Amino acid sequence: MTHREDAVIVNTIVRQALAAAEEVMGKNGLNAVLRLSDLGSFANNLPPDNLEPAIKATEYAQFNQAIEEFYGRGGRGMLKRIGKASFQYAINEQPALLGVAGAALKLLPQKQRIKFILNSMANALKKTNSQVEAWVEEEDEKIAYIESSCAICHSRKSDKEICYLYLGSLGEAIEWATGKSYEITETHCMAKGDEYCRFEVGEEE
Ligand SMILES: [Zn+2]
Repeated sequence: MTHREDAVIVNTIVRQALAAAEEVMGKNGLNAVLRLSDLGSFANNLPPDNLEPAIKATEYAQFNQAIEEFYGRGGRGMLKRIGKASFQYAINEQPALLGVAGAALKLLPQKQRIKFILNSMANALKKTNSQVEAWVEEEDEKIAYIESSCAICHSRKSDKEICYLYLGSLGEAIEWATGKSYEITETHCMAKGDEYCRFEVGEEE
């Protein structure tokens, strides 16, 4: 399976990621990376906070690639930190979108909490963009989050998994829901030619 050519992302999701990137890389770092990708028009000018599907997935993928290239060996860690900050932004600024307001997670076992937040993320993405295909699976006691419309690796090719920003967001989401840090591994990636990007929740760290 491949990415659809007309894939788009809604403004608010990109706004989240760029605001998070500015927190992690500073304004100058963000602007430099935006100018290296096709998102240069967002330098000093974040996308509006709405659900218009105005940004191409390929542009968002280029932005991710530009961060890896700009920061060299530090790029992957940078992308994970941006993913973490992006979840924090979503949970603080847009809890209604995530549908987690007032959730009584404390009463649930760890595994249920993990599934709850991963399902909330998949549902929020699907609710705001009809192109998104994302779901949560549990097999052999392993919980995994899967997306076959991943914008981070759109049109990119790699021997290895490259959706580092997603790893950061999912890790932070699980930490928010459980109070604990879990190891997350990307086991499949569309950049490698896989049918989807799959992120498996491992052991508590
Ligand atoms: Zn991906």
